[in-house]
Amino acid sequence: MKSVSTDASPGLCADCRLSKVIRSDRGATFYQCLKSFEDPRFPKYPQLPVLACAGYQKQRPEPGITASS
Ligand code: SF4
Repeated sequence: MKSVSTDASPGLCADCRLSKVIRSDRGATFYQCLKSFEDPRFPKYPQLPVLACAGYQKQRPEPGITASS
């Protein structure tokens, strides 16, 4: 596994619905790009932080969770 941990801010991957958080046995956290499985232009483990991405899709809120003030 390529070593791209989340010591730095993940940027867009943090709330992209196509990202998957992977935690290693050593406690490191990685963001895997699920878009990479269908489109080879996207790296499996993006260099963080991702500041601009053509594949970014904002996560939808969890059902039952509503924004309140
Ligand atoms: S599509 Fe872009 S923003 Fe989304 S997980 Fe992949 S690299 Fe990150």
